[in-house]
Amino acid sequence: MDIKTLADFCAKVGIAFPTAEIYGGFSGFYDWGPVGVEIKNNVKRVWWRTFVHQMDEIVGIDGSIVTHPDVWKASGHVEHFHDVVTRCKKCGRAYRADKLVLEVLGINVEGKPAEEIDTIIRKNNVRCPSCGGELGPVEYFNLMFETKVGPYGGVTSYLRPETAQLIFVNFPRVYLLARKRMPFGIAQMGKAYRNEISPRNFLFRLREFEQMEIEFFFDPKDDACPYYNEVKGKKVLGLTAEMQERGEKERPMRIADLVPEMPGREWMIFWIAKSVDFFVSVGVDPKRIRVREQLPDERAHYSMGTWDVEFRFDDLGWQEIEGIAHRGTYDLSRHQEFSGKSFEAVRPDGSKFIPMVIEPSWGVERTILAMLYSAYRKDEKRTYLRIHPQVAPYVVAVFPLVSKDGLPEIAREIYKEIRTEFRAFYDEKGNIGKRYRRQDEIGTPFCITVDYQTREDETVTIRDRDTMQQERVHKDEVVAWIREHVKNWRV
Ligand SMILES: [Zn+2]
Repeated sequence: MDIKTLADFCAKVGIAFPTAEIYGGFSGFYDWGPVGVEIKNNVKRVWWRTFVHQMDEIVGIDGSIVTHPDVWKASGHVEHFHDVVTRCKKCGRAYRADKLVLEVLGINVEGKPAEEIDTIIRKNNVRCPSCGGELGPVEYFNLMFETKVGPYGGVTSYLRPETAQLIFVNFPRVYLLARKRMPFGIAQMGKAYRNEISPRNFLFRLREFEQMEIEFFFDPKDDACPYYNEVKGKKVLGLTAEMQERGEKERPMRIADLVPEMPGREWMIFWIAKSVDFFVSVGVDPKRIRVREQLPDERAHYSMGTWDVEFRFDDLGWQEIEGIAHRGTYDLSRHQEFSGKSFEAVRPDGSKFIPMVIEPSWGVERTILAMLYSAYRKDEKRTYLRIHPQVAPYVVAVFPLVSKDGLPEIAREIYKEIRTEFRAFYDEKGNIGKRYRRQDEIGTPFCITVDYQTREDETVTIRDRDTMQQERVHKDEVVAWIREHVKNWRV
């Protein structure tokens, strides 16, 4: 399947579509429909439950989106968070200069200074791919959205380009609130903004998007992970930096063999394993998941190692859906330096240290893309989403076979009972076959139908989305039946 097919499908069934379509859309911005908003909230809820509620080491925060400008000076974003751009002098189209040089000349100049790329463009006479016009000078373009806070021009601030820095700046306070335990982590999810030069591939590269991030702090001198024995033997499709340098492909390997000796190594392995488990638990196809170590020139200078969880799209190839970065002590040291406040933690023996940090960072939209891509099924009869009940927009739909003879009254009563526990949908209009198809399309796992037999023996049919098999269950046992089947559902 290509990404365009998925985008069309998502617009059609009300998952996501370009924002303000009546005004022609707005590149890099999408709105979520009635079905999509349920899926998105479910994914976020499962993530929060998995990493915050079910891990003693982690607490959550919700930081400000418009952020004190000094945060982004300390983090390095004001100085370094930019792309290199060039604009056509004739048609005005803007390009990412490094991408253009790679596409036209096949030269990889990622991370090279603007002047150097400019020289390469002049020397090889690279022209505008669209109109053949001359290209203007290569310049830096900061990807943060600026905004003015307060009247008369006010203070220049930025919409946060990542949620992570809000966690770092709150470290001293949250560390106290966490009663000085180490290791511990802070989680946050929410919107982030990047003024991408060319947003593309539906929800994959957006200007407004959501992140789910954890900063996991630990003492490099006391970095054993108590869960290490549970995860060290786990296998994934893995690709180390060395394998890439030798031109090799990913292969099944132990996660433990992906990570070399380094401070926090056991925790890094834990986070990779936990991340892959999370994706599988929300229905991402494990055969399309690999873990790739970033090459030294891909990662930030302070990073001690970064592993990307990637998903294989048929048309886009392997693409990052989560990054797990070892950021050392960089962020806390920078905020200590810029703010003059202490970012140190204290060991039981009284000695002080700046904690190291591992940062697993998920894109909400990318997670959902991988999930939908894995769930989408189309055959001669129907299109359906084989998605896990815990992230499906509705768990159950309830129908009367016909909207007369007392059937709607019984169906409504059952519906009202179910929706106290599960997300449910009621529909009594039109052909029953079409009602089933509509629920298949949005991934509702179970459909309950009240028919004439219900009036006689109080049983209803429950139809399974994936097998289309039906069974009869007494109406008083329906809720227990659903509870059991949701719990035992496996991808
Ligand atoms: Zn042009």
